[in-house]
Amino acid sequence: MQKIQTDYLIVGAGLIGSAVAMGLTKLGVDRVMVVDLDLTGEWSSSELNAGGVRATWSQKVNLLTSKLSIEYFAQHASEVGYRDCGYLWLHKPETMNAALKAREMHVANGWPVDVLDVAALRSRFPFIDKTSDLAGAIFGVRDGLVNPNRLKEHYREQALKKGAQFHHNVWVCSSEDESSGSKKIKAFQFSSQLSPEHKKKLLCENPTTFTEGTETGEWIEIEAKHVVNAAGAWAPHLAQVLGYASPSVPVRRQISLFQTRDVDLTNYGMIIDPSGVYFHPESIYALSGFAIADEPAGFNFEYVADRFFEEHIWSHLHERSSAFESLKHVSGWAGLYENSPDHHAIVGRVNSGARSSNLFEAHSFSGHGAMQSYAVGIALAELMVKGRYETLDLSELSGDRFANGRTIASETWVI
Ligand SMILES: Cc1cc2nc3c(=O)[nH]c(=O)nc-3n(C[C@H](O)[C@H](O)[C@H](O)COP(=O)(O)OP(=O)(O)OC[C@H]3O[C@@H](n4cnc5c(N)ncnc54)[C@H](O)[C@@H]3O)c2cc1C
Repeated sequence: MQKIQTDYLIVGAGLIGSAVAMGLTKLGVDRVMVVDLDLTGEWSSSELNAGGVRATWSQKVNLLTSKLSIEYFAQHASEVGYRDCGYLWLHKPETMNAALKAREMHVANGWPVDVLDVAALRSRFPFIDKTSDLAGAIFGVRDGLVNPNRLKEHYREQALKKGAQFHHNVWVCSSEDESSGSKKIKAFQFSSQLSPEHKKKLLCENPTTFTEGTETGEWIEIEAKHVVNAAGAWAPHLAQVLGYASPSVPVRRQISLFQTRDVDLTNYGMIIDPSGVYFHPESIYALSGFAIADEPAGFNFEYVADRFFEEHIWSHLHERSSAFESLKHVSGWAGLYENSPDHHAIVGRVNSGARSSNLFEAHSFSGHGAMQSYAVGIALAELMVKGRYETLDLSELSGDRFANGRTIASETWVI
């Protein structure tokens, strides 16, 4: 069996694992290794998301984490495909006051948000012409969109330039604690490219049950001084591999692409209807999503196509605009949200009270990992290398909040 040693091992090379690798290398750490079953991320949430980035949140920790990230995206706008095209939140009378109160927090923390009454809304967004149930809207001026794939590649390039290594085809299955505090990780490294279906099958099973079958490859052992669980929707499984429990669950989210004949959405940003349907322009189409309330937890990648589009997207959109009365469903897909019980990310040292623990985690973003990835990468790297948060204090996001009853108010602006 091949034996490898490293100082920092990150399991999961999505947006979060790649951002943490960049954060570590920015601090001058040179033995950083990132492993993933699939570096292309075919089934990862980082490849299947909607690309929205916003600091308009109900909770300050999310506002600050997104703000720091979006400021970075703006500095690297052409590389990461950031556009400050805004987030428009439409509100009915029953939610408008809470939105205005949250907007006070946004503005007080340096995030510009406009308030629109119905007349201003109709003049700025003329295609939104069915407004009798609305009280108005708020508009996050610097919220917008990124290209998640380019963002991930950007993080990886920055980390690679400074010596981080990314390893493909590595499926992490078990671990042992060493008396030195290091972890010995056992992983199977496939020697040939896996088919999409084979990767999906592995990802839908618990890695602790993996046994070598007909695949070609070899077992490897990685001894790491620090390990990061950045396995996204698979973080609870990886937690089991690493010897602890995580309370999060994977939940399917579907996205539809559609064509509009009667309105050109190109110059607009993200729009969130009170029904929960969100949409934004995506090349020549519009991209739209909706969270089905009773969607069961599990690894489900099935897109139910016309049924989803008609029942959950079009049914709401045609009530918002006469330009949406005839829409053409083009295609779509399903990916996984990684939901924590309070819809906040889980970030920090595993068992944060035990300062000697060299196990860290960053996952369970509950649908907002792309927009928070930069800040989390920087902050977690500081915690690992310097022993404390400096740029942004994320201590309230540590995972043991669920076990020790140190609850934080749930994030409610989740779409
Ligand atoms: C439909 C949809 C829409 C979304 N829209 C947005 C949005 O608009 N804005 C936003 O900010 N966020 C959005 N999100 C959420 C966002 O995509 C995620 O929060 C983010 O991508 C999480 O990144 P990650 O790196 O933690 O996880 P992932 O990208 O899923 O990466 C985890 C990686 O871990 C690897 N892995 C897992 N287990 C193992 C193992 N045992 N061994 C080796 N490798 C392993 C997997 O192969 C995977 O590549 C959306 C998500 C979905 C599904």
